[in-house]
Amino acid sequence: MISLTRRELLTIFLGAPFAMNACRSGESRPFPEGQIVGQSATLGHILRENRTFDVPPDNWESKKVAIIGGGIAGLSAAWKLKKQGFNDFVLLELEKEVGGTSISGKGEPVGYPWGAHYLPVPFKENTELISLLEEMLLLEGRDAGGEVIVKEQFLCREPEERVFYKGRWYEGLYLTVGASDEDKRQFAEFQKQVDSWVNWRDAKGRRAFAVPLANCSDDAQVTGLDKITFADWLRQNGFTSERLLWYCDYATRDDYGLKADQASAWVGLFYFCSRVRKSGVESQPFITCPEGNGQFVNHLFDKVRDHVRKGQIVVSVVPTDKGVDVICLDGKDLRGIHCEKVIYASPMFTRRM
Ligand SMILES: Cc1cc2nc3c(=O)[nH]c(=O)nc-3n(C[C@H](O)[C@H](O)[C@H](O)COP(=O)(O)OP(=O)(O)OC[C@H]3O[C@@H](n4cnc5c(N)ncnc54)[C@H](O)[C@@H]3O)c2cc1C
Repeated sequence: MISLTRRELLTIFLGAPFAMNACRSGESRPFPEGQIVGQSATLGHILRENRTFDVPPDNWESKKVAIIGGGIAGLSAAWKLKKQGFNDFVLLELEKEVGGTSISGKGEPVGYPWGAHYLPVPFKENTELISLLEEMLLLEGRDAGGEVIVKEQFLCREPEERVFYKGRWYEGLYLTVGASDEDKRQFAEFQKQVDSWVNWRDAKGRRAFAVPLANCSDDAQVTGLDKITFADWLRQNGFTSERLLWYCDYATRDDYGLKADQASAWVGLFYFCSRVRKSGVESQPFITCPEGNGQFVNHLFDKVRDHVRKGQIVVSVVPTDKGVDVICLDGKDLRGIHCEKVIYASPMFTRRM
């Protein structure tokens, strides 16, 4: 069977002029207007002010669980609790809408993502995520190996990313054009190392890098990678090729917003290894749709909306003898919740250490 790239396929069906047009940089078109999403800065800055918060006695209530943050993590926790028949919980979200960095917008004719736009197809071990995909009717079935098959209309395959170099686009993220023999050798060596981590299993048969993180090995050989930076790991392994280093730096900037010398070797390798079932096999395709990961936000919110309180900034989380006291501000009123447990699903930088 001949395998064709998307561009080759476009060229066959629609002709080269159409394909080249579709792939142009769009310099002649004006750049669309942007917008900063989630701008509750006034509310957010309250967290920095170190105020004391005295909740009027009548404004206290009790809940078994409070979830702080209505991004994909908080919504997933809420979905799971509800699915297990547990209803004594509340989810508190600072913004007027849930979704966090996976929020999407509504447009004509279709919606669009503001942040996260795709999700790699999970391996069969990721049973929690698979049950969500099943519930959302995104699956078609399973293959002979038990891996899920996602409906074709929700999939996007590699190479789905391109690099703009000296005035034109090139398929894939690693720039092959103009690579020297040494660049090629180092890239092949890097892929060999990635392959060996992809195939690596610990004594319990666990992968080094897997989703969810709970499925990753805690072997010292793997966790040791969290103690050095990705840039150090590349240096230690003799990688100096400028284009390879750019590629690796792009990877950590793309997934973590960190440069390779700020991200650990563990997260750097996670980017390359966690989406590949075994060496030599294509990386898992991506699940996407016009509103990107907003489709998951919208579905999860729909299932748990009765428990969600929007526009509530949590200003204090204090452990007590009986559990945890959570205080939140809904713009003007302070409210307190005595909880047994809290699920903290807000960014780490909002936590007072
Ligand atoms: C531009 C961009 C593109 C991305 N692309 C992808 C992608 O394609 N695929 C992918 O898998 N991932 C992608 N990601 C990463 C993905 O968006 C995040 O990993 C994921 O959405 C994080 O979810 P979360 O719930 O952990 O955190 P967040 O989305 O940060 O949610 C935290 C929530 O907590 C709320 N909150 C914060 N403080 C408080 C408080 N004091 N009280 C109450 N609520 C509070 C926030 O308002 C927010 O809603 C992308 C991220 C960005 C920014």
